[in-house]
Amino acid sequence: MAEQRKDLISLVIPCYNEEEAIPLLYPELIKISKQMDYVDFEFIMVDNCSEDKTLELMRGLHKSDARVHYISFSRNFGKEASMYAGLKAAKGDYVTIMDADLQDPPSLLPEMYQAVTTEGYDCAATYRKDRKGEPLLRSKMADAFYRMMGRISSAHMKSGARDYRLMKRQMVEAVLALEENERFSKGIFGWVGFKTKWIPFENVERSAGTTKLPFWSAFTYALRGIVSFSTVPLAVSSMTGIVCCLAAAVYAVYVIIKQLVTAEAVAGYPSLVCLILFIGGVQLLMIGVLGQYMAQIYLEIKNRPKYIIKETDAQEKAVSK
Ligand code: UDP
Ligand code: MG
Repeated sequence: MAEQRKDLISLVIPCYNEEEAIPLLYPELIKISKQMDYVDFEFIMVDNCSEDKTLELMRGLHKSDARVHYISFSRNFGKEASMYAGLKAAKGDYVTIMDADLQDPPSLLPEMYQAVTTEGYDCAATYRKDRKGEPLLRSKMADAFYRMMGRISSAHMKSGARDYRLMKRQMVEAVLALEENERFSKGIFGWVGFKTKWIPFENVERSAGTTKLPFWSAFTYALRGIVSFSTVPLAVSSMTGIVCCLAAAVYAVYVIIKQLVTAEAVAGYPSLVCLILFIGGVQLLMIGVLGQYMAQIYLEIKNRPKYIIKETDAQEKAVSK
């Protein structure tokens, strides 16, 4: 009897300057693939135009292990682009996104695979129970961000959620069908829906090297998330306009009555300065909010490729939308 084909799991691994982390990651991948010998694996490493030896390491791994594939970009297009390119290249029945720094423990894979194969889930996603080892301000701001997103958008996002998740092919296709350029994957995963099992784990510190996402990029990433998945800020700006108009009307009535009753002019210079500054500030802020949405429309409408591939083991099409 012909042997039944095993399921194929594709591991997509975005890498940027990870020459120190990859030598620690690969043995772990081998270990888990031996432990899970009931499935086949392919490892898709996406190099975000690293300045160190990351790409050379990938080429070497591909030579010695045919399951390792690599894609290398012509410049750094960001982690979102790496994930998209990896998902697109993945051939697996199930696809997982995993960071290169072992902050996404490979040891969770058996449990994740079990959730989608025997427990009726479409996706097994992970989140950190704590943010040990992360600066306090950053983790507090992240928490506040997820709480706010829960209120203002329809895409379900969990606080502490990682991009580390195992998805069925059907869900991967849904994620790929959302072709927006300004990507915010955490929102996209929530937006496409599907039954997701949330698996908690304790925060793990980076295996080697330093974080590639400094505070400022985390901040702009959060901003992109809000603009991508909610139009509430636009509604807030309209509401602020209405509140200002109402306040002005009430104040106008007060000024007229005071003038009629007491016949003395309302002394005004300091309050006028405050009001002008206040209204000016509010207007600029709201134009800024509008600008954020306009910027996103502008970037989407140009429809530039999300990434440009310079080199890959498969020598795929060079430019991909
Ligand atoms: N990464 C990437 N491109 C970038 C920045 C990061 O592919 O421009 C990868 C990085 O190599 C790592 C993952 O994204 O595998 C997460 O990055 P990092 O660990 O630096 O972020 P943190 O865990 O500190 O949020
Ligand atoms: Mg990390």
